[in-house]
Amino acid sequence: MAEILVLAEHDGETVKKVTTELLTLARAHGDPAVVWTGDGAEGARARLGEFGATKVYVAGSADYSDYLVAPKAELLAHLIAAKAPAAVLVAATSEGREIAGRLAVKTGSGVLTDVIGLTADSDSGGLVGQQSIFGGAITVQSRVRAGTPIIAVRPNAVTPETAPGAAEIEPVSLTVSDEAKTARVTGKVVAERGERPELTEASIVVSGGRGLGSGEHFALIEELADSLGAAVGASRAATDAGWYPHQFQVGQTGKTVSPQLYVAIGISGAIQHRAGMQTSKTIMVVNKDPEAPIFELADFGVVGDLFKVVPQLVAEIGKRAAG
Ligand SMILES: Cc1cc2nc3c(=O)[nH]c(=O)nc-3n(C[C@H](O)[C@H](O)[C@H](O)COP(=O)(O)OP(=O)(O)OC[C@H]3O[C@@H](n4cnc5c(N)ncnc54)[C@H](O)[C@@H]3O)c2cc1C
Repeated sequence: MAEILVLAEHDGETVKKVTTELLTLARAHGDPAVVWTGDGAEGARARLGEFGATKVYVAGSADYSDYLVAPKAELLAHLIAAKAPAAVLVAATSEGREIAGRLAVKTGSGVLTDVIGLTADSDSGGLVGQQSIFGGAITVQSRVRAGTPIIAVRPNAVTPETAPGAAEIEPVSLTVSDEAKTARVTGKVVAERGERPELTEASIVVSGGRGLGSGEHFALIEELADSLGAAVGASRAATDAGWYPHQFQVGQTGKTVSPQLYVAIGISGAIQHRAGMQTSKTIMVVNKDPEAPIFELADFGVVGDLFKVVPQLVAEIGKRAAG
């Protein structure tokens, strides 16, 4: 089977969950070969192998972290020329999407974004991507017809599954061109995360919307989230109002989450919000308006005032935890 390159997202130590999702998807259509930039490949090798990576191409140069995305696009273009993979998978994050676009231009290839699944075309054997468009309202099937398919896969679209792989490390030495080094990273600030799980990786997410009425009332959402060991999310109405930081926005222009349990409090369920949470396994809603569209998605819904319902919920969860 031909290789499918998977660009790893990592922080130098930990492999992000989305990379395990890409490996799971790649495995069904070829030999998944990870492309790892910077430090940490040796430490991550076992984890990559656990999800079926057959090979890990390691480009350890600091150029990949010292400059913005251009060196990574150059590296992938080099590997396409050298290894002739069947496809390149990247995460459809803001960085992944930019790399995909640059790589497509460099290699004269087609690119698919917001892909949520891949199948093999019965005639050509080529890869067909399922793309979620218009805020998740429509799914289309698309196939790249030029060059090497470059596919940006939406985080949380695929459930990661383990399967053993050798994860053999193969160093790649490439001298990054001066043109790819025009935008240097001058500093990095690590976002404070606190004790709560990362939003896109949490198994429970509690989100608040405009129904909360103010930023102070997000304390209710945090209290409920903490009682469940959950991450906190927010609708765009809440983040645009400055009630909660933008990095917690769930939806089409925010994060995509797919937890076991999604709790939507005071959120109406606009299509752009649904786009980021509708694949959650169980959806629970608290809204005072029985006509709110979010109830169409709900597995369990409470029609009521969140200021009465949420404190009772927290108290009940507290009693169960104590008992
Ligand atoms: C291009 C574009 C991209 C967008 N991207 C996103 C995105 O990524 N994420 C996103 O969320 N939105 C996004 N939006 C905005 C989206 O269209 C909605 O405006 C937004 O989701 C509404 O947020 P909300 O549900 O919190 O507010 P509202 O729609 O105002 O809903 C508030 C809800 O709270 C309920 N409520 C009020 N008081 C109480 C109470 N006391 N108790 C219980 N319930 C109560 C109301 O009944 C209502 O249903 C986008 C819009 C555009 C045009």
